[in-house]
Amino acid sequence: MRVGVIGGGQLAWMMAGAAEKLGMVLVVQTPHANDPAVSIAADTILAPINDSAATAILATRCDVITFENEFINLEALMPLAQQGVCFRPGLSVLAPLLDKYHQRCYLRDLGLPVPRFVAFDEVMRKEEQNTQSKIEELGFPVVVKARRHGYDGQGTFIVKDKDALEVIMKRLGQSALLLEEFIPFERELAVIAARSVTGKVVVYPVVETQQEEQVCRRVLVPAEISLTLAVEIEAIARTLLDSLEAVGVFGIELFLTPSGKILVNEVSPRTHNSGHFTLDACCTSQFEQHLRAVSGLPLGNSSLGCGGAVMVNLLGYEYGQNDYFAKRQQLSQLPQSYVHWYGKTESRPGRKLGHVTVLLDTPSRSEAQACAHNLESIWYR
Ligand code: ADP
Repeated sequence: MRVGVIGGGQLAWMMAGAAEKLGMVLVVQTPHANDPAVSIAADTILAPINDSAATAILATRCDVITFENEFINLEALMPLAQQGVCFRPGLSVLAPLLDKYHQRCYLRDLGLPVPRFVAFDEVMRKEEQNTQSKIEELGFPVVVKARRHGYDGQGTFIVKDKDALEVIMKRLGQSALLLEEFIPFERELAVIAARSVTGKVVVYPVVETQQEEQVCRRVLVPAEISLTLAVEIEAIARTLLDSLEAVGVFGIELFLTPSGKILVNEVSPRTHNSGHFTLDACCTSQFEQHLRAVSGLPLGNSSLGCGGAVMVNLLGYEYGQNDYFAKRQQLSQLPQSYVHWYGKTESRPGRKLGHVTVLLDTPSRSEAQACAHNLESIWYR
């Protein structure tokens, strides 16, 4: 089986081990010859992610095409799908998800809990009065999000008052925006789920994610939540994937409010940073699961193979070509520690260069938190 992957970042790179295990070959489409996944791909089409002519060539070199990011031009891919190119997840599954406003509407219409939100579009810009009242309904602080192409918090702004909102609106110009209520969450949670070609769904343990400046810094596994909440979150994942008739792995990010309510923040139709721990801590990693799903294989066991785990993102903290070798060595010498280094050639502050997962014998939030702190004090020292 030959699997085409649109996108050459670390998510495609991390599919390599699973592809080898399953006897599959990866073919990557990316514009960057030094992207991580180029080094593990059997073949690469060097072309922009949204270049559908290049994707047509990719299609001739593989059996199924999947995605590792959301920079997808659905309209341009439609004719290929009509000619029989197999995209998994399918284009109709992606259609309601790629725009944050459409995604919020889809989740709400499904009856899933989401923050209150409103689209900020051309019409609203002209109807000054209407706009004011809608924003007032949401209250300050308000969250402003670019509807498309945001990632790692780029395009997400927490705005404290009217003046700051005006500044942001001016800066964002005419781009389509989503405005939503600020959730003073107690914790952020996430869950990875996969759905097979035959409609079987498997769900991984719910995890706690910790973001700083809107970028994921660490993941504690499993989340310390009640069984009732875990069951509720699993039901959300199943409802969503079944309703979409999705095929593949999906990452779902959630808010836990101070009153114990769950709200869905975001759905990513792909493998996700909150699931990197599965590489070392679960029977089947999210990357293997994704390849299994998109290639029509039965899904694997999603349970934890250890008591708990902690995953820390190794973010760049300077500009340059530092490969942080000594620090990586130090991290990998810790007991039950697994360092994954994506092989990016340039470091920049905040750039995800790798991650480290440490397995724990027992599920303990305080132990996981202390372990994360130790890992970060080594990394950022
Ligand atoms: P991206 O798609 O770039 O990851 P998200 O919409 O997931 O952006 O937002 C990134 C982070 O910003 C979230 O993990 C959360 O910490 C914060 N955030 C986003 N939306 C809200 C909200 N409505 N209320 C409070 N915090 C939010």
